[in-house]
Amino acid sequence: MSFEQLGLSSSILKAVSEQGYLEPTPIQVQAIPVILAGKDVMGGAQTGTGKTASFVLPMLQRFEVYANSSMSPAKHPVRAVILTPTRELAMQVHESVKIYGKYSQLRSTVIYGGVNIESQVEAVRAGIEILVATPGRLLDHVHQKNLMFSKVELLILDEADRMLDMGFMPDLKLIIQLLPAQRQNLMFSATFSDEIKNLAGKILREPVLIEVAKRNSVSELITHVVYPVEAKKKQFALIQLIKQQNLQQVLVFTRTKLGADRLARFLIQQSITCAAIHGDRNQLQRTQALADFKQNTIRILVATDVAARGLDIEELTHVINFELPNNPEDYVHRIGRTGRAGSKGHAISLVSKDEETLLSNIEKLLGIKVSVDHMSENVISRSSNSSYEKSLLVKDRKEGKKPRQESKQHRNPKISVGVNARRTAVAKTGKCEDPLFTQPYVSKYPDLVSVTAMDGLGRKPVQRRFPERALPALFTSFHKRSD
Ligand code: AMP
Repeated sequence: MSFEQLGLSSSILKAVSEQGYLEPTPIQVQAIPVILAGKDVMGGAQTGTGKTASFVLPMLQRFEVYANSSMSPAKHPVRAVILTPTRELAMQVHESVKIYGKYSQLRSTVIYGGVNIESQVEAVRAGIEILVATPGRLLDHVHQKNLMFSKVELLILDEADRMLDMGFMPDLKLIIQLLPAQRQNLMFSATFSDEIKNLAGKILREPVLIEVAKRNSVSELITHVVYPVEAKKKQFALIQLIKQQNLQQVLVFTRTKLGADRLARFLIQQSITCAAIHGDRNQLQRTQALADFKQNTIRILVATDVAARGLDIEELTHVINFELPNNPEDYVHRIGRTGRAGSKGHAISLVSKDEETLLSNIEKLLGIKVSVDHMSENVISRSSNSSYEKSLLVKDRKEGKKPRQESKQHRNPKISVGVNARRTAVAKTGKCEDPLFTQPYVSKYPDLVSVTAMDGLGRKPVQRRFPERALPALFTSFHKRSD
């Protein structure tokens, strides 16, 4: 089956072919003709199946008749409302609308919370045919009388299951009451709980059920591996995985916002570029983190379930569950970020003893037994000793405490005897076998006896005196910094 055979217009076909899509995905093959025929649809499709195009393409086609270049807002009433549970998904869906509607004169905009409403008012009031929105912000605009829905012909609920999980049901009810009764409705959900069926029963009229993957199933292109790890050693296990497998772009899930921040801080301390996204980060921070991750400026994106909802990251190969989700259906959503559009994906989970029940719930839902791999306990301990103990030593030193027992590694003289210790030794004895210390220091400024430089913390100026006698080579850097 080709896109041409689906009956799409030449401008849409042109935009699609510019995306490099060779043929429609199964959900597109099934949904596009049904939506073009004006029927309601209940789409059971996981993310990564091409479901966004499956509703955006026929929507654009359907409203092509209304496209016009008039500047009057009255000539651009809202025709379609697409609701998504999160801002990120809203932005992504809107991005798709813009991409596939590149050659259309239909206007669209996206509205979501977390940003100043004023910045959205102008676009909304200018008139738009297609509105992508999160429910709460849509209602804010309704209350401000920025939006009118009397001409709406199409309602699309994307990731409806998540909307229910996030408690959007009351907002959805309000929004539906604002829409004309006569309209087409499309509802997409990765999972099919009883609540979803209930919602579908209320909104959809004689819907065509389209399911492209087994219920609650995940792509066969994704491999699942579990590593049993003690909770307190997970951070080090994660570092090992990243380093050993040389992972360059990984989405890591934590259960809480606090946990996401804590893990991101730890990874940064370990010199792994990383950012965290969760509900407490403002929209700018979230957008920036996502952009950096997509452009490979950062290696790891730590996310909570809500923030990562609907993220579409091209060719993301690895998702790591730092903690398993409480709700097994969230596992489906999490790992749905990888293995998209025909690419292979890997879902790795670090599972501690107290998460075993969560794991078996996930296995029950997916109908698979996840394979278990073991990380060498030595490797985890070694990495934990080196970085963790070092940080404890630094903390002790700062707090003026007597250092606790060091690990063998820290007793290694090469590490514990630092430059300062060597300097003291050389200054005391005037002798050193280390070649670095045996070259005399030659000052570039022989006449200078002292300079004013900032103290070590860069806070206040201090007077540094130059020593009168030649010093070993390693002292060079000290003086260089001073002048
Ligand atoms: P979605 O399931 O809508 O989140 O789409 C996942 C990814 O599949 C997106 O990056 C789309 O650009 C891509 N995609 C959508 N339709 C096709 C297609 N027919 N062929 C190849 N890739 C596609």
